[in-house]
Amino acid sequence: MTLRVGVIGTGMIGRDHIRRLTRVVSGAEVVAVSDANEQVAKEVASGLPDATVHVSGEDLIGDERVDAVLVCSWGPTHEAYVLASIAAGKAVFCEKPLATTREACRKILDAESAHGSRLVQVGFMRRYDESYRALKDVIDSGRIGAPLIYFSSHRNPSVPEHYTKDMAIVDTAVHDFDVTRWLLGEELAAIRVVAAKANSLGKDLQDPLLMILETASGVLVNVETSVNIRYGYDIRGEVVGETGTAALADRGLVVLRTGNQVGVAVPEDWRQRFIAAYDVEFQEWVNAVASGEGATGPSAWDGYAAQVVCDAGVEALYSGDRVEIDLGVKPALYG
Ligand code: NAP
Repeated sequence: MTLRVGVIGTGMIGRDHIRRLTRVVSGAEVVAVSDANEQVAKEVASGLPDATVHVSGEDLIGDERVDAVLVCSWGPTHEAYVLASIAAGKAVFCEKPLATTREACRKILDAESAHGSRLVQVGFMRRYDESYRALKDVIDSGRIGAPLIYFSSHRNPSVPEHYTKDMAIVDTAVHDFDVTRWLLGEELAAIRVVAAKANSLGKDLQDPLLMILETASGVLVNVETSVNIRYGYDIRGEVVGETGTAALADRGLVVLRTGNQVGVAVPEDWRQRFIAAYDVEFQEWVNAVASGEGATGPSAWDGYAAQVVCDAGVEALYSGDRVEIDLGVKPALYG
C-alpha cells in the first residue's frame, strides 16, 4: 500500500521532507499540502504529480485522500494539528516540538490515550543516526559497564539574528535531551544551566551554555551548546561507564593528511550531518504506518518529556538554580 501523506507547513523542513517522501523513501506519496502562505503551498504543489492545496491544516486533515499527516509548521501551531489528526484517527508525524507547553503536550497524551493506540510520532531524528545507534548498542551490550556520565556537545557555526538565549535550550539542546533519555533508557530528573564567558562572535547572546543534568538513577549529563563556534556543525557524545567509555566517532569519508595536519571534514550544518538519519526516520515511519503497525518511533510521551525538560532548563537559565524535573504520571499507552 502507498501511504498518502498530507503536509502542513511547506517551509524549509516541510519542503525537504516532501523531497524525501517523493524521491528518497519508498511507499509514500504526498497528496495534499497546506501553508499559512497559500502561494508557497501552491508553488510546492505545482512540483508534485497530484497534490491538493488546502487553505487550512484542518481541511487537509479532513481530506479523505490523506492517510497520514506530517506537521512542519511553526511550533505554536503543532498542538492544534496533532489534536485534530488524533480526532480524525490519522497517524501524524510532528516535527519537534510536539507542542510548546507542558499543558498542551498533556492534552495530546490524553487524546492519544483515549484513542487507545499510538498515532503520534515526534521528529527526533538523532535516534535514526547510525553513529548514535551504534553508541546505544554499545551501552546496551554492557561492554562499558553501567553508564555514569554522558557528555553531549552541540556546536553550530552560527545562528540567525532572531536566535535568543532560550532557543539554546528549546531549539538546540532539546535534541540532546531526547537522545540522552533514549541512550540511557531513563528519565532526566534535574537540571542546572551555567553560562560561560560569552563568545564575542555571538554579539549579545549568552553563548556558550553548559547544562548539567541528573538522570533518575544519578547519571550526570553535561550538555554544551556553542552556537557561534564557526569551525562547523559538530555533534559529539561520550558515555563514561564503569569499565570503559564509548564516543560518537568523527565522521567524514576520507582522512586527509596535508600541511603537517591530519583530519576529517566537519559538516557545515545539521542538514548535512543528519541527512541520512532523516531518510531512515521517514522510511521507518512510512513502513510502520502503511503496515498498520502505527507509530513506532519517538512518542508523544517523548515529546512531552523533552518539553518538560526544556521548561525546567529555561527556568534554571534565568534563576541559576538546580531545577527538579517532575514528569508526573506516565499514561499506560506509553509503557
Ligand atoms: P519555516 O521555514 O519557517 O517553515 C514553517 C512554515 O510553516 C512556513 O512556511 C510558515 O508560513 C508555515 N506556517 C506557519 N504557521 C502555519 C499554520 N498555522 N499552518 C500552516 N503553515 C503554517 O520553519 P522550519 O525551519 O521549516 O521549521 C518548521 C518546524 O520544523 C519547526 O517546528 C522546527 O522546530 C522544526 N524543525 C525540526 C528540525 C529537526 O531537526 N528535527 C529541523 C528544522 C526544523 P509563513 O512563513 O508564511 O508564516
